[in-house]
Amino acid sequence: MTADYDTLIRNAKVLVGDTLADVDVALREGRIAALLPRGAGTAKDIIDATGQHLLPGAIDIHFHIRAPAFPERGTVESETRAAAAGGITTLFEMPLSRPSCSDARQVEIRRAHFAEHAVINFALFGAPGDLSDASLAAMRDAGVVAFKMFTTPSPEGRDDEFYGIAFPDEADQLRALEAAATVGRPIVVHAESAQLLAAGERAVAGRDPADLDTHLLARPDICEAVAVAKLLTMNIRAGARLHIAHVTSALTVAVLRAFKGTSDFSAETCPHYLFRTHDDVKRVGVFGKINPPLRTKADQDVLWEALADGTLTHVTTDHAAFSEAEKRSGAADIVSAPAGSPGSEILVPALLDAVASGRLTLAHAMALLSGNAARRFGLLSKGRIAEGYDADLILVDFAGTTTIHRDTLVTFARDVAQLYEGAQFNVRVLRTIVGGRTVFDGRVVGTPGWGRYVAPGRDVPVAASPVYA
Ligand SMILES: [Zn+2]
Repeated sequence: MTADYDTLIRNAKVLVGDTLADVDVALREGRIAALLPRGAGTAKDIIDATGQHLLPGAIDIHFHIRAPAFPERGTVESETRAAAAGGITTLFEMPLSRPSCSDARQVEIRRAHFAEHAVINFALFGAPGDLSDASLAAMRDAGVVAFKMFTTPSPEGRDDEFYGIAFPDEADQLRALEAAATVGRPIVVHAESAQLLAAGERAVAGRDPADLDTHLLARPDICEAVAVAKLLTMNIRAGARLHIAHVTSALTVAVLRAFKGTSDFSAETCPHYLFRTHDDVKRVGVFGKINPPLRTKADQDVLWEALADGTLTHVTTDHAAFSEAEKRSGAADIVSAPAGSPGSEILVPALLDAVASGRLTLAHAMALLSGNAARRFGLLSKGRIAEGYDADLILVDFAGTTTIHRDTLVTFARDVAQLYEGAQFNVRVLRTIVGGRTVFDGRVVGTPGWGRYVAPGRDVPVAASPVYA
């Protein structure tokens, strides 16, 4: 007798819409085939998830692997394995590489490389490159999920990585927004004012270059807020689907609120801004250097309010792997030290810990981690548990705990994850399922090449023919 389904996940509490349902979930050919009454159906594989919650996998819209360049900072295989271990089923890879991903040819090269090595699903950002409508249209046709630019200049010595990504000139920024609007893809912006950053660096010229306070003073909140205000003003004219990356400050939240309704924009923050402050950065030194910087408890409180009132609608890792030696080599000059921290295995446990502590509802946390990303970026078959949607799922145990420790992290950058070393979260990701296949069940069991290229608007939910009428 043949089984009805490939896999049945039995006895979990299942997030269906905004509520938990007592249903069994049947998977077939990589999709969710049916939500069934307890005990119904047959399958080749049965997963008994008694005591566990079945949730959509996280869609992390802000991830840096940089491959095929920089294997010394980890690889597609190492970092997608880490993401799998962290409950992430789809990541959006930023366009920084060598060369940068700023034309359709580079998109195809990176797509082929990621397709060969990724354990989880991936989407690619393009950079605005030469700012022509034709080039952006070609990248759209190659499937980029969105465009990404910085309003800051390239860091010293990294011009090739940032070619076509870094646009400190406001006329270029406006052109990028217009081109993204013309070709119909969102544009994500790392927003800090180049002029105010330059002033900030001049202001700290006499300070101790190894002091972490020097970094914070060189990049005050006004840098971010002014850049965001200018972009939002431009977007009234340009009409792009604009998304502001990694919001850090109360001042920027005030700007986002002031512009509400003036154009189509959204914004994200990251766990390090929600769970850590500049005091933690001072504790771990250069390993806490991130751009824009972590700020005060008062800023952090406003970020939580902005999640609550819907000003911020996404939480992302901004995962950036570095070797310990590379990070440490910047310690003597904090302003120019490499910026970034690994978040692959922090994001989901941190946000679900906030559910465990009553700070977020489960439905809100999953919207921030998955559902809002799917909607905002046109991934029509992701972000929900419903018939016909992709079987990108996680099983979590709210009675379990996750302790972050270098010896158990999967990311290549485990030695760099010092902002969270020793952190304990009151939840545990037990299993990660990508396209119906288990890629993590306490250890990573996914194989390079299992991840699929995700392009907006292509996959729509396919309702399977019901086995039970
Ligand atoms: Zn980033």
